[in-house]
Amino acid sequence: MIQHPFPLSRRKFLAGSLATGAAIVCGGLAGRTASASRGISPNRRRELAADDGKALVTITLDLEMSRHYPRRGMMEWDYQKGNLDADTKAYSVKAAEKAAAKGGFIHYFCVGRVLEQKDVGWLTTIIKGGHPVGNHTYDHVYVLASTPEQTQFRFQRSPWLVEGKTAADVIDENIRITTLSMKQRLEIDPDGFRTPGGFQTALNGRADIQQMLLDQGFSWVSCKYPKHNAKKEGREPLPEVYQDIVSAQAEAQPYVYPTGLIEVPMSPISDVNAFRSNFWKLEHFKKAIRMGVEWAIENRACYDFLAHPSCLVVEDPEVETIQMICDIVRDAGDKAAIVDCDTIAERARLRHQP
Ligand SMILES: [Zn+2]
Repeated sequence: MIQHPFPLSRRKFLAGSLATGAAIVCGGLAGRTASASRGISPNRRRELAADDGKALVTITLDLEMSRHYPRRGMMEWDYQKGNLDADTKAYSVKAAEKAAAKGGFIHYFCVGRVLEQKDVGWLTTIIKGGHPVGNHTYDHVYVLASTPEQTQFRFQRSPWLVEGKTAADVIDENIRITTLSMKQRLEIDPDGFRTPGGFQTALNGRADIQQMLLDQGFSWVSCKYPKHNAKKEGREPLPEVYQDIVSAQAEAQPYVYPTGLIEVPMSPISDVNAFRSNFWKLEHFKKAIRMGVEWAIENRACYDFLAHPSCLVVEDPEVETIQMICDIVRDAGDKAAIVDCDTIAERARLRHQP
């Protein structure tokens, strides 16, 4: 038996297994090229999307500041969603590294205004690591708003910024200049679009917004966030709350809108809903996420974990939840893979074809 002079690190072991095709650990990585391309290669994406025996799990982080973080009462972020603080940026990089060390990766969505900051090196580090980054609008605008002031707190305080514009103008421009800022400052095209906020009814019945996104070159949107119970009575959420969250996973499956735009829903429960709105503890959040991911694997369905580094840096400082998801997918063997949102969209597209 040949003894290696140095014990292989876990990361090298995983990379080696993937290179030889011996094991698909967090399957998504298997399709990624060694170059700077992000997410999964087109061929591997089609293969994974078409494999009905495989659950598709994506880990997504929205790069923005969140009210009440890092401490309760902090509301100014409502006006400056893109002014990420040092801890949030450091956590975003750390999460990418922890996921990669487990053979996975993260699909990020950034607000364009963060690209006004002096240093965007933290984000280029993430991009160079192969993690996709999508468009999350410039100021975190509400895409279902009917007046310009409704789109964002910033424009209520500073209405001159949107003087003479319609809500549709503000939303269209907010998405367009984010794409432009990503091209100019990051030298990438956005990897998809996620609406600020999630809506139970998604963009159903809003062909105008669907068409706006299609016209700006997006083939999918991550918008739907299904209704579910999240109340905590006493120390831990009741069993029926967990059960309701599991039941909601069936409502978080991708589909095609009549315009052809594809919906890639977010899977409950989000970090801000659990921690900020309902004061959950980390162990209970992890339990709910585990149950949701396991449901997706049992049903060979899709799961889209949704969280925010600005919240997790306080609530889950060691990146436990994301690492747990990678472990669950790895342990599921060929029944699941870590993917980007594009792969989930591709599955909906394939199933929609007659
Ligand atoms: Zn957001």
